[in-house]
Amino acid sequence: MDMIINGEHLAAIDGRTLDIDNPATGEVIGQVPRAGAADVDLAVKHAKAGLRVNSRVPAHRRYDYLVKTAQLILRERERLVELLVKENGKSRSWADFEVRKGAEVFQTIAERVKDPQGATYPMDSMYNAETQLSMLYKQPLGVIGAIVPFNFPVELMAYKVAGALAGGNSVVVKLPEDCPLTCLEIGDLLLEAGAPAESFHLVTGLGHEAGAAVVEHPGVGMISFTGSTEVGKQIAVEAGRQLKKISLELGGNDAVIVFDDVDVDEVAESIVRGRMTVGNGQACVADKVWLVHEAVAEKFAEAAGRVARSLSYGDPADPSVDVGPLITDEAANRVHDQIQQAVREGATIVAGGERFGPRGISPTVLSNVDRNSALLADEVFGPVVPIVAFAAEEEAVEIANSSRYGLQGAVWTKDVNRALRVADQLDVGGVVINGSSCFRPGNIPYMPRKESGLGKDNMFDAMDEMTVGKAVVFNGVRAMGTA
Ligand code: NAD
Repeated sequence: MDMIINGEHLAAIDGRTLDIDNPATGEVIGQVPRAGAADVDLAVKHAKAGLRVNSRVPAHRRYDYLVKTAQLILRERERLVELLVKENGKSRSWADFEVRKGAEVFQTIAERVKDPQGATYPMDSMYNAETQLSMLYKQPLGVIGAIVPFNFPVELMAYKVAGALAGGNSVVVKLPEDCPLTCLEIGDLLLEAGAPAESFHLVTGLGHEAGAAVVEHPGVGMISFTGSTEVGKQIAVEAGRQLKKISLELGGNDAVIVFDDVDVDEVAESIVRGRMTVGNGQACVADKVWLVHEAVAEKFAEAAGRVARSLSYGDPADPSVDVGPLITDEAANRVHDQIQQAVREGATIVAGGERFGPRGISPTVLSNVDRNSALLADEVFGPVVPIVAFAAEEEAVEIANSSRYGLQGAVWTKDVNRALRVADQLDVGGVVINGSSCFRPGNIPYMPRKESGLGKDNMFDAMDEMTVGKAVVFNGVRAMGTA
């Protein structure tokens, strides 16, 4: 499939291509252009023209084409789900969830367009401004550079494209190199829905080539990036050099704290599924570190092992498969190495720990993990959980907060005061009480802390983030005295 630039399907200017394979089988299922700086430059040139177009499309028309896009995604749902399973390796049920979520994001952000925007302030609270009236309103920010990771390509592209277009901007999207196909199909649906062809451009290629070219291009006014903390930091440096606005949604390795008053089987069922099945353990907010009270740690490890062993794993072409492969050979090797390292450090494998297919890791539960293990320091991006026992509430909070990440967390207890007290102390942007932390509804603010980012990429904030305020002051329009 080709890129979509200015409504046209284009190959890379230098003709280079990238193979896209099925992570479950290694079979090549498509080819896309391997764009470079010249292709990005072309997309930005069109996007500048597209900014003039979309910024003059009235908000009610932007609403129409975004809602229509949501409807078309649902019309094409079956086909999109099948393609997403093939190129990404996630299970059919989670691919279906993601495609429906993508439609929901377009629909919900469209509805934000209909909210009245702006405010008016009488200025007589300020000395010497008594007769003034200020009018504040939002304008498009410019050409938005959007960079999308592999793990939720449809949902995450939706926040960025719908947010940018809703705000009257134009957008150049760098799609994930491993699974860009479903997003390209959605690009065609945006065209069919009537989104101005000049205003959105979908570029395929590698991060250090096409991605870096988007970040560095002086014509791009804001970078909206979702991906790893390491790449996010590089982007922040370049964006800082040019003083570009950035939104960074980055990695996480956040904790789930389980107290000794819970129903161990119920908790194990919920968080094993949250951790292992959503994107095959490749989710930013998945329950990645389990801190379990020492009184129930052993019982909990057995229960978690039972649930992990009950999950079916393999090629998600089979709709009964719960856990599919990781995205690349390197990703699978890295996670397998992380398991081996933990075992060398003294951890016990309660379930899993094996490879399957070319890139699979069977659902893995590790107990007796030391709190200083690398599994707690680094993000583990696969279906693996370390169980760390704690003795006291303060200790659990202290271990959780020692993470360099601050995305999300969870607390399980029947004691509501303790749940709220612990939630209050966790240094993260969101806490789920008595549920899996793998929860991102999108319609409440999503607020990463520490090395998890600086972003506000959700249905609630995306459009606001991609607009800039303007104050227009009227002089001599209020009949106020000056005394
Ligand atoms: P990644 O950082 O490797 O790549 C993300 C995107 O950035 C890809 O499109 C890639 O091509 C591009 N890229 C890579 N190097 C670049 C560079 N130098 N300049 C510009 N672009 C570049 O991440 P990934 O492996 O695709 O995704 C997994 C990571 O994303 C995990 O860390 C996960 O936690 C994180 N993530 C975070 C959220 C969130 O909302 N916080 C959501 C999903 C994923």
